[in-house]
Amino acid sequence: MTACAGRGEEGGKGVAKTRRVPQRTCVGCGEVQGKRELLRIVRTPEGVITCDPTGKRNGRGAYVHRDRACFDRAVSGRLLKALRADDQAAQLPTLREAFSAVLATPAPRRPQVHRAPVPLPDHLIARNRHGPTRTPSRQRRGSAGVS
Ligand SMILES: [Zn+2]
Repeated sequence: MTACAGRGEEGGKGVAKTRRVPQRTCVGCGEVQGKRELLRIVRTPEGVITCDPTGKRNGRGAYVHRDRACFDRAVSGRLLKALRADDQAAQLPTLREAFSAVLATPAPRRPQVHRAPVPLPDHLIARNRHGPTRTPSRQRRGSAGVS
């Protein structure tokens, strides 16, 4: 008797197909989140510590929430270690300014809901879309010809 149950197929495929946002840890609060929710702080090859909103700069990076509390905690805690820049505390005031500047600018390519103060009602928008194709004067001509 062979007790070989057909269990071998379980592993393998399935997980590979779902594309997930890379997860990063906030050095401030330690929460793990999608890369886009966090702001990258980078130590460039030249040794400059600055914010990297694009996330594409060269250098050693660490991630922090776009949040002052997280930033403060990061600065007084793990940030410099994460950047392997323990001796670079002198750069922190500059970094703080850069961080404030980033906070002041809206995150790139993120649909912001409350940003549009346009009071245009829905039916007007709909009419505008179909507008150019039908002109009332033409319709009149047509109906006049029928009689
Ligand atoms: Zn955080």
